[in-house]
Amino acid sequence: MTIRLYDTAAREKRVFEPQDPTRVTMYVCGPTVYNYAHIGNARPPIVFDVLRRLLMATYGEEAVVYARNITDIEDKIIQASLESGEPIEAITQKFAAIYNADTAALNVLAPSIEPWATAHVGDMIEMIGKLVRKGYAYVGSEGVWFSVKSMADYGKLSGRKLEDNEAGARVTVDADKRDPADFALWKFAKAGEPDDAIWDSPWGRGRPGWHIECSAMAAKHLGKTIDIHGGGIDLQFPHHENEIAQSECAHGQQMARYWMHNGFLDMGGEKMSKSLGNVVLVHDLLERWHGEVLRFAMLSGHYRAPLDWTEDLLKQAKTTLDRIYGALRRVWEAEGGTAADRGVRRALEDDLNTPVALAELSRLASDANLAADRKDAEAMASARANLVAAGKLLGLLTLSPKQWEQGGDDDGNARIDALVQARIDARAAKDWAEADRIRDALAAEGIEIMDGSSGSTWRRI
Ligand SMILES: [Zn+2]
Repeated sequence: MTIRLYDTAAREKRVFEPQDPTRVTMYVCGPTVYNYAHIGNARPPIVFDVLRRLLMATYGEEAVVYARNITDIEDKIIQASLESGEPIEAITQKFAAIYNADTAALNVLAPSIEPWATAHVGDMIEMIGKLVRKGYAYVGSEGVWFSVKSMADYGKLSGRKLEDNEAGARVTVDADKRDPADFALWKFAKAGEPDDAIWDSPWGRGRPGWHIECSAMAAKHLGKTIDIHGGGIDLQFPHHENEIAQSECAHGQQMARYWMHNGFLDMGGEKMSKSLGNVVLVHDLLERWHGEVLRFAMLSGHYRAPLDWTEDLLKQAKTTLDRIYGALRRVWEAEGGTAADRGVRRALEDDLNTPVALAELSRLASDANLAADRKDAEAMASARANLVAAGKLLGLLTLSPKQWEQGGDDDGNARIDALVQARIDARAAKDWAEADRIRDALAAEGIEIMDGSSGSTWRRI
C-alpha cells in the first residue's frame, strides 16, 4: 500500500504521505494555448494522469483534487494575436478546446479544476503586492521584479547557484533589474500591445509574468502548501524554481511537499525542435493512431527517462494492444469475477514504473488466454476482472474488445455483421463458393473473419 515517488527537490525516492488523506492535492502546469500541442507536450498530462489514477485507487476518487491550469495570457499569445488580427480570447478558447479534446482522446481524465490565468489576475496582483510589501520585489521602469537575492535559498530545486546564472550568457543584462537573474512578476504594457492584453495594477497597466500565474492559482484552489507539483523537466528551471520563490516568500511556508518531473521525448535520437523540422503534433498523430496506442507508447518508458518516439514504438504498441484486447475478447462474457492481482498496482506504487506495469498487463492477458484455452469459467472471470481493473489504473482497455477490433460506426458494422452472417448461412448450406466470395470481399475491405469454436467474429486489420 506504500507509494514511493521520486522527489526532484529531495533528489531521492520518498514514501508519499499526503497532508490530508481525504484531500490529496496535485498541481500540474498546463498548456499555453496559442497553437497545437506537440507530442512532447502530451507526456506530462499522461504521466500525471497515471499518478492521479493511482492516488484515486488509494485514497478514493473524490479525495484527489487535481488542478491543471490554462495559460491564456503570455507573450507568445499576444504575438499570435498581433500576427493574425484575431482577439486573444478567440485564439485561447479555440486552442484550449483542441487541447482538451486531444488529451481526452489520450484517455486523460479532465482535471478537477482548470483555472484560466486571465480569470485570476486579481489574485496575482494581490500576491505581487504582498511580495513588494515584504521586500522580496521592487518596481522598475519596465515592470515589477522579484529580487532573487532577497531569498536566502533561491535555487534549491534545481541546485543552481546565482553565480552560475550570472556567468551564463542566457541571462541578458538589463538595466532595469538589480540582478540579472531577477524575473518579472508584472510587465508594463508596451506601445502597440492589444487592449485585451492589458490590466490595471497599483504599479501601472500591464500583465502578469508567467511564473506568478501558477503560484497564485495553485494557492487559490489547492492551498498554500500542496502535496504534489508536477511538470516536464524543462520547467524545473526557471519556471518551478520561480514558483517556489514567489509562493514561499509570499506565504512563509513550503509550496509543495513533492516535486515531480518527467523526462524529454526524443525523435529518433534527436531532440524535437522547430529548427530541426521534426515537430509532431498530437492532433495529427490522433488521425493515424488510436489514443490508446499513443498512450501505451508513452508509458512504455519510465517517466523520468528520455523516451525515443519512433514509428516502430507506435507499431509495437498497436501490436501489443491488439494482443491484449484479443485476450480480453476471449474472456469478455465471463463477468462477475473479482480483481485480486496487484502486479500493475505494485509497479505503479514504485515511482510509477510503467514499463513493469505494462509487462504485468501482458502477463494478465496471457492468464486470460490460458483460462480461455482451459475453458475454466472461474479463471476466465478473474482474468477479465484483473485486466479491466489494471486497464483502469493505466487508462487503457477503456473500450470493449468489439469496439477496439471493429471500430467504425454502427451502420457500417451492421452491414459487416450481416455479411458475416450470410457467410455462415452459405457454409451451413455447403455453398463454399459463396462463402469464399464473401470472405474475399471483406478481406479486400481490410476485414478479417475469425472462425472459432463459439462462432465467427471479425476485426479490422
Ligand atoms: Zn506552472
